[in-house]
Amino acid sequence: MATAQGLTGLVSPEARVELLAAESTWAEGPCWIPDSRSLRWSDIKGNRILQWSWDTGQTSIYRNDVEHTNGRILDLDGSVLQCSHGLRRVERDREGAIEVIVDSWQGGQLNSPNDLVVASDGAIWFTDPDYGITVPGEGHPGEREYEDCWVFRVDPSDGDVTAVVTDLIGPNGLAFSVDGKTLYVVDSEQQVIQAYDVVDGTTCENSRFFASPPDGAPDGIRVDESGNVWSSSLSGIVVFDPSGAELGSIPVPERTANLCWGGPKGTTLFMTATTGLYRIETITRDAHL
Ligand code: MG
Repeated sequence: MATAQGLTGLVSPEARVELLAAESTWAEGPCWIPDSRSLRWSDIKGNRILQWSWDTGQTSIYRNDVEHTNGRILDLDGSVLQCSHGLRRVERDREGAIEVIVDSWQGGQLNSPNDLVVASDGAIWFTDPDYGITVPGEGHPGEREYEDCWVFRVDPSDGDVTAVVTDLIGPNGLAFSVDGKTLYVVDSEQQVIQAYDVVDGTTCENSRFFASPPDGAPDGIRVDESGNVWSSSLSGIVVFDPSGAELGSIPVPERTANLCWGGPKGTTLFMTATTGLYRIETITRDAHL
């Protein structure tokens, strides 16, 4: 398969995109699970969670009937945090035991949490567009109960929830810069990545355009240890430097929804792309793992 284009110093010229599993209907929410040396991801429309083993190369069903989970990330304690479209909440999976983190905002249900990150202080930041209540097969039909689509922060000390980004139409993937002082958020409706200054670790200011993948459809994003922003897109992954200039791309054969680093060395980039789980070896890592 394809090699990376223009990513000297980030991906070796010999590294190739490799298909690992092809049985999803809408693959999202990739997360490397160190304890089991496996890559777990959501098959949103298939309403199940799949897991690919590094050691055996085999894919297995982790759970069925999962209420259309979407984005996923490791918490600081190694447990797994994930977004549930069907139950309109953020939840924790600790070896199969599910705990609700947040499911409401000022008395109303959330829309359908899509993706999430954990800040260095342990706060959970998540996006809440309405795709899980409006797109057939991605959740259950429903109404917006606070009439908008925002980004929220869950305080690690008391679970208090605050709205931190309220100026986007379809907030989706999100990631912090290396120093945690900038938050990048994808707006799927405007097909852009927006940047914000993070103030005191609790609020966002100075909303501004950061970048936009040339062929559109940004969804999940990650930041590498040099501060570059890796975005999913219609044709694979596009990488931007911290100024927003495009560095290069990794062509993937299917529309790519999300990505994460993992593998035993942390240098393997996994990409969830429609029906497929793909990987390519890189020479960088996630800024925060
Ligand atoms: Mg997403």
